[in-house]
This record gives sequence, C-alpha cells and structure tokens, in this order.
Amino acid sequence: SERTFIAVKPDGVHRGLVGKVIQRFEDRGYKLVGLKQVVPSRDMTEEHYADLSKKPFFKGLVDYMSQGPVVAMVWEGKDVIRQGRAMIGATNPLESAPGTIRGQYCISVGRNIIHGSDSFESAEKEIGLWFGKAGEL
Ligand code: ATP
Ligand code: MG
Repeated sequence: SERTFIAVKPDGVHRGLVGKVIQRFEDRGYKLVGLKQVVPSRDMTEEHYADLSKKPFFKGLVDYMSQGPVVAMVWEGKDVIRQGRAMIGATNPLESAPGTIRGQYCISVGRNIIHGSDSFESAEKEIGLWFGKAGEL
C-alpha cells in the first residue's frame, strides 16, 4: 500500500498541533506506520530540501528546520501521497483553502507547520532519509 512522509515542523510542534495533525490523518482513514520526534542535523535538513538549494529562502528554511524538534511520520493508505498534500493545503497560506491544515492553522509561508511528500519519488527518498535506508518500519 502507498506510503508518504509527513512531518510536523518546529512551529507546529511548539504550537501543540501534533495531535490535531495525527487526528486528521486518522479520521481520513490512514494508518500511522512510523512516528518519532527528532532534532534533524543541518546536513539532514539540507538533504531533505535539496531540490530548493538555489532558492533565496533556503538558508532560513534550513536554519529553522534544523533547530527542531520535528515530529516525523510515515502514513499509509490509498492515494496517501496526493491526498496528504490535499489535506495539508497550498504552500503559501494566502492560497491554502480554509479546511486544509495550513488553511486552518497558519498565516506565514516560512512557518507553515507541516511537510508532506510531493511525489512517489520524494516519499521514497524522505522515508529513507528520516527512518533509515531500508525504510523498515
Ligand atoms: P513542504 O516541502 O515543506 O511540504 P511545499 O512542498 O508546500 O512544502 P516547497 O516548495 O517544497 O513547498 O517549499 C518547502 C518549504 O519552504 C515550504 O513549506 C516553506 O516553508 C518554505 N518556503 C517556500 N517558499 C517560500 C518563500 N517564498 N519564502 C519563505 N519560505 C518559503
Ligand atoms: Mg515540498
């Protein structure tokens, strides 16, 4: 069955939104197959966001994420990669629909509380990066 990597970012953890994120995925019918709280290294964070390394906000993003803590999760179920992105909502809170996680809980693109894999390839890479190369959960 399909799996995706979801992470509650430091702002989401500090604001106490971990339970709400978990609740939404459980309510939708998805299964939690991996969960841990970590303070990721800079190297790890840079690898996670490697596609964005040329962006002007990259350093700020890495500075922020690597302060942690991050609650890293793997969720499993039908179409969970695309459905997870739909539940999370648009990157920029100005565009995230009310009812999505970002649309309900945040107002700043640099503090948008949650990450979700954007493709099958990203999900594979990210699950390996955060939970071990074998991805054995
Ligand atoms: P994520 O990968 O964290 O799930 P996303 O896929 O919606 O988010 P990306 O384009 O992958 O969006 O950007 C990764 C993260 O970088 C965003 O979630 C956001 O926190 C930050 N970011 C993106 N664009 C900007 C920006 N213009 N200014 C500041 N931070 C940004
Ligand atoms: Mg992304």
